[in-house]
Amino acid sequence: MKKIQEILAQDSFSKEDLIGLLNAEGEDRTLLFKESQTRKEKEVGKKVFFRGLVEFSNICSKDCLYCGIRKSNQYVFRYEATDEEILDACLFAWKNRFASVVLQSGELSSPAFVDRVDGLLKKIKQLSNNELGITLSCGEQSRETYLRWKESGAHRYLLRIESSNQDLYYKIHPKNERHSFDRRLEALRLLRETGYQVGTGVMVGLPFQTMEDLANDLLFFKEMDIDMCGMGPYIEHEHTPLFEHKDGLKTRQYRFDLTLRMIATLRLLMPDINIAAATALQAIDPAGREKALAIGANVIMPNLTPCDYRKEYKLYDDKPCMDEDAELCKNCMEARIEIAGSEIGYDEWGDSKHFFKRSK
Ligand code: SAM
Ligand code: SF4
Repeated sequence: MKKIQEILAQDSFSKEDLIGLLNAEGEDRTLLFKESQTRKEKEVGKKVFFRGLVEFSNICSKDCLYCGIRKSNQYVFRYEATDEEILDACLFAWKNRFASVVLQSGELSSPAFVDRVDGLLKKIKQLSNNELGITLSCGEQSRETYLRWKESGAHRYLLRIESSNQDLYYKIHPKNERHSFDRRLEALRLLRETGYQVGTGVMVGLPFQTMEDLANDLLFFKEMDIDMCGMGPYIEHEHTPLFEHKDGLKTRQYRFDLTLRMIATLRLLMPDINIAAATALQAIDPAGREKALAIGANVIMPNLTPCDYRKEYKLYDDKPCMDEDAELCKNCMEARIEIAGSEIGYDEWGDSKHFFKRSK
């Protein structure tokens, strides 16, 4: 078996190398984190970029087996924020120099939903003198819809593959046309074709997931040549079908630490992409996102969802920041980032460097 120093000295990595990095413990883990931090600062700098997150609706037509807002969860009160509430949150982001927002929701594809998002995009651009950058995270859509939303002002899109192993994908999704692995892949291709900066990612520590699966996920990101990535620990939710496998899960602390090693390893594999410090990290460790920023992530998404809705956008148990309003959330985030030794890229979109290198 290769020594960690040997692997870290390489500039390309085999699946076995990646597994070696993902298993790093003790002194090896320290070396991995040191290297990923250095690499991050060299390739994308010390700045952390804010994306104000607006979870504007929890109405979803899908039934992903892990997700707390899945269609069949009867315990959830379904909401749709009003235009005014969404625009207020975006105005807050703009006035506080966040430069970008993420609009996220359950997945719907009705003409009314598509029109609504389209209208919101135009209004957000208008209210901010065209200055706010907009990322969407609204699931699988047609080519026509992606194109239309792009023309109305969105320029980045997040769509996690959740797992690149088709067998595992079908263990965490119902087996039907509405939850097709091929359609997910096709949606990622369509997003690339229609000109978005494309972000994907996986959950770490899922039931049935192996180290080899995770190494393959990393190779999948490389092969798809993605621009952005968001990976967070899988956290069980008691009102979901996957909850029945909770006793077979690794501890939350293990899932947390493995997510950090995934982020660090990805920074070495794809040094110039944007990597988000996912909110789910903070559900396990109060300083979780800052720890991710310190070892390779460079994007953070302060929650700007109106407080009354947050408890209804509970994807997993113990989701953090449920009762902080936007102002408090911002202050707490600023302090945390400074503690983590980074600076905030105010007034900058902080686009993926990788995207621009590819488009040249
Ligand atoms: N509906 C859109 C979609 O699925 O792409 C966007 C919203 S969805 C709630 C955003 C992400 O939440 C998913 O991609 C999934 O990875 C994550 N998520 C859902 N349930 C989770 C859980 N139990 N633990 C951790 N992450 C979860
Ligand atoms: Fe809906 Fe997204 Fe949750 Fe799946 S992960 S149930 S698509 S909100």
